[in-house]
Amino acid sequence: MQNTVTPTHCPYCALQCGMNLAPAADGTVEVSERADFPVNRGALCGKGRTAPAVLASGVRLTTPLVRSPGGALEPAGWEAALDRIAEGLRGTRERYGADAVGVFGGGGLTNEKAYSLGKFARVVLGTSQIDYNGRFCMSSAAAAGSRAFGLDRGLPFPLEDIPRTGCVILVGSNPAETMPPSLRYFTELRENGGTLVVIDPRRTRTAEQADLHLAPRPGTDLALALGLLHLVVAEGRTDERYIRERTVGWEETRAAAMAHWPEYVERITGVPVPRLREAVRLFCEPEHAMVLTARGPEQQSKGTDTVSAWINLVLATGRAGRPLSGYGCLTGQGNGQGGREHGQKADQLPGYRKLTDPGARRHVAEVWGVDPDSLPGPGRSAYELLDALGTDVRALLLMGSNPVVSAPRAAHIEQRIRSLDFLAVCDVVLSETAALADVVLPVTQWAEETGTTTSLEGRVLLRRRAIAPPEGVHSDLYVLHELAARLGVEKGFPTDPEEVFEELRRASAGGPADYSGITYRRLAEENGVFWPCPAEPSADGTPEAGGPVPVGGGGVPDGGGLGDASPDTPATSPGAVAEDPVRTAAPRAGAAVHPGTPRLFLDRFATEDGRARFVPVSHRAIAEEPDEEYPVLLTTGRVVAQYQSGAQTRRVDELNAAAPGPFVELHPRLAERLGAAEGDPVAVVSRRGRAVAPARITTAVRPDTVFMPFHWAGEGRANTLTNPALDPVSRMPEFKACAVRVEAVRP
Ligand code: SF4
Repeated sequence: MQNTVTPTHCPYCALQCGMNLAPAADGTVEVSERADFPVNRGALCGKGRTAPAVLASGVRLTTPLVRSPGGALEPAGWEAALDRIAEGLRGTRERYGADAVGVFGGGGLTNEKAYSLGKFARVVLGTSQIDYNGRFCMSSAAAAGSRAFGLDRGLPFPLEDIPRTGCVILVGSNPAETMPPSLRYFTELRENGGTLVVIDPRRTRTAEQADLHLAPRPGTDLALALGLLHLVVAEGRTDERYIRERTVGWEETRAAAMAHWPEYVERITGVPVPRLREAVRLFCEPEHAMVLTARGPEQQSKGTDTVSAWINLVLATGRAGRPLSGYGCLTGQGNGQGGREHGQKADQLPGYRKLTDPGARRHVAEVWGVDPDSLPGPGRSAYELLDALGTDVRALLLMGSNPVVSAPRAAHIEQRIRSLDFLAVCDVVLSETAALADVVLPVTQWAEETGTTTSLEGRVLLRRRAIAPPEGVHSDLYVLHELAARLGVEKGFPTDPEEVFEELRRASAGGPADYSGITYRRLAEENGVFWPCPAEPSADGTPEAGGPVPVGGGGVPDGGGLGDASPDTPATSPGAVAEDPVRTAAPRAGAAVHPGTPRLFLDRFATEDGRARFVPVSHRAIAEEPDEEYPVLLTTGRVVAQYQSGAQTRRVDELNAAAPGPFVELHPRLAERLGAAEGDPVAVVSRRGRAVAPARITTAVRPDTVFMPFHWAGEGRANTLTNPALDPVSRMPEFKACAVRVEAVRP
């Protein structure tokens, strides 16, 4: 063994921090600093640092489980478990038709898994009913970005641009808790003389560091953006030349903004007019500025319009598609970006192609070796798919998701899942959703498998296998390979992730998210490559424009290669660290390759005429405003020591010690009205259910609002309360605001 240290990336959030893994004395792996990866420069949060704890055999699944006639999940062999799944899926299809079988994926799956899952649904099952939990995460920003710029990539510029801009408006984002190592970009921004404006109903740890914090009522940031745009126009701060030369549709958008007087916006949002003016001054005075959004504005029943309102502000001030300026979305899940590009979304084919586009269907069908007419059309969005379980959709294959905790109106969704004829779940641990399955398959995880992810920057990264999986554990790719064979498709589902990636490259070629110029070898050598990266270098120019660059060095064959990458190749020994044959290889001398595209839109937007689109939007209320019965607003979010539904992080002692359970954050005035003291159990009740958790009394939250983190199951499950009202464009549920009442719980 040559290498004892494997450079790789964290399994959790979209920052995809670089880390080194090395064998530990106890047979697991140890995390150490990987200073050569520029995004986090060695820094990790507690989740990343403790991630190996979930590799331990006492924590994770190591044998398939099959539900017995008596109703219990019992250990079984792989052959029997796979046979049972194939039988469940085939039987449902035969009885009720192909669309009675659903597939639900996750934003944590690697690109290879997401690609294979989408192909499996359309080619093997022939179902249109596939979507994934990333729909709950960034879909409103994706929809708004696509309609404004013609293309959606979380950040159209690297994080390294943030410290060099003049002002950042951070809307509904709390990186201090969600991705702590990224906070340094905002700290450096301020050290360099720039300013940070945070818009959040809560005074979060991020808001505490801001030069200006605006705390609107939850669900009113669309009005806030319109109020800022109104002031920009009224104060003569628009960039008329930019609007003329690089945009379309300004007049209607201008008119919509002018209908939102600052005083009217103050009444809607609760943010005083002088603070609106101060935000406009901070944003407009510097030469460069950015707006970054996250789940706050996006997880609303008007999330797409809310993000459009922020993009309109960026366009009107001439900030998009210019160096050190622009609009970006801070994506959330580890592969939230790549997961939505390669075909597990209901309406998409690989390469971010549209399933409704005949040319896209032809291209992908040719790569897949099938008739384009055999590909089903778009299916239901995530919530709609979950809501159809047990009725239209009778069997479900689920990978990398835990909707019993993470879906809105979770008690109802749990009932829908329980009413399925058949449920198969592939997971690392026995999550709350896996516990309801007929068959559970134990699958490999980050350190035990090679694969690619795409970070919030649009940087495609190589996560490398560092340790052999425990005996009895296989990869998701192996599961799809075996199921496809059992369902009559012998070829087209390789278990080697690099082989899958090579096919993904061809399927994505020519699409908006073009990965065809990216190889495993390049990813290993270059610390990631930004898409789009076509196979053929263009004739013109600079790396920023997407032209060819020569790469030096010598002696690498085409195509790259990580021959030992498949988790289903025989393991060396537990705790062994895989050799990486490409670490020391250098690119071929003089070869011209596309350099990737760190910065998008500098010359033109990805629309037909190259101009960005203003989209006129107006304020509208959240789907469920407070009333006499439910007089308080609930908003939900995260804490630093837990991740998403907590399926992995709730199994890590150190993280549980830091964040042991749910809580209800409420203002002292509300607590006094209830007669609740710190730590007292309080009940939060919405039209969908009741959750109980200890009170955490703080002035960080508005008096008309309570906050709950959503990482836990049981009686403190925040998503029991949340409203599944959907955005009409993105089909994103309104996680961020619903009407509740709060009650003291008496013994
Ligand atoms: Fe980095 Fe996110 Fe992992 Fe924390 S959870 S170490 S911020 S990638």
